[in-house]
Amino acid sequence: MRFSEIPGNQEVKQKLIQSVKCGRVSHTQLFLGEDGSASFPLAWAYAQYISCQDKEEDSCGKCSSCLKFEKMVHPDVHWVFPVTTGKGTHPISDHYISEFRELFLKNPYSTESQWYTHLGTENKQGFISVTEATDLIKKTSLKAYEGGYKFVLIWHAEKMNTPTANKLLKQLEEPPEKTIFILLTPQQERLLTTIISRVQITKIGILSDLEIRNFLTDKCIGAEVLNQAVQLSEGNISEALRLSEGDKANKENTKRFQQWMRLSYQANILGITDWVDEISKLGRERQKVFLQYALHMTRESLVRNFASIDLQRLTGEEQDFTQKFSPFINENNAIKLIEVLEKAHYDIGRNANAKILFTDLSLKLVLLLRIKSLSLQST
Ligand SMILES: [Zn+2]
Repeated sequence: MRFSEIPGNQEVKQKLIQSVKCGRVSHTQLFLGEDGSASFPLAWAYAQYISCQDKEEDSCGKCSSCLKFEKMVHPDVHWVFPVTTGKGTHPISDHYISEFRELFLKNPYSTESQWYTHLGTENKQGFISVTEATDLIKKTSLKAYEGGYKFVLIWHAEKMNTPTANKLLKQLEEPPEKTIFILLTPQQERLLTTIISRVQITKIGILSDLEIRNFLTDKCIGAEVLNQAVQLSEGNISEALRLSEGDKANKENTKRFQQWMRLSYQANILGITDWVDEISKLGRERQKVFLQYALHMTRESLVRNFASIDLQRLTGEEQDFTQKFSPFINENNAIKLIEVLEKAHYDIGRNANAKILFTDLSLKLVLLLRIKSLSLQST
């Protein structure tokens, strides 16, 4: 991965390149950026640049080190990421490295949810275990195979539980010689404060609409899909790629959400029961994505009520629906609606029973959608 392949983030790239040129590379770093942002490719490009034997303003992409980096097979780079218990009781990243490589060589902006889908373990939440930490301590204590730097890239570092994080603390404080740790996370607050205090933080931003547009222009997609992807992705690269592929899952979410709102408004309990049965069969990651979508649509309906239609980030079909749906979202129920959806999204990520959760949530919706706006009540 070369810096030039990654869209946007010019300032971050310059800062990273300068740190290498001036010999001021911190040995424990944290890249803070949204899931699906340029965070992972930037960490990859940075490590490749440090190791490149013929670097200038970017890595050369041709030396023996770069060639290994390009294929993610450099022996001195340890890729660490959340795994599930599919392969034995003490899984570590090494057990899944070929799957990880396969996904990230295809799409370096892959999200956590796409990773679990790729593994076929959508129903399980990944973790970085203490066994992984023990393994890392062993690996980093060895000399580098190629004599240069060793790298440990921890993707979704917030998936380290407390024992894992504690075990790695000493390494992070005093990394073994010529070893660079790069932790990546979308949520700084989910890391231990003792870790935060030891790392140098680099914030990875989202892209501007123009940067997303330029990035997608190379992908040979139609003008309408391109415009839609630019508008809806809100600067997230992974989201832009997904939208530009006209993702089937998005259409499914639209249909499922509209059906849910109709049933809830009609207080159709039998219909709701069937709807809950259907969604409970989906994997946990897809349920999370659906709830995110529901939040997005609720917020957009609110925007439609209180601001300009121009501010909406919706497809044509979604706009038609919000036109009919938005009158039911008002100042008396909007905050509560968003609150219950956010809580459900949080709980589903913590292995709540899907059937109970969606039944309970639907019943709350039945009540909330009946709350009328003050202006309607007074007429
Ligand atoms: Zn090179």
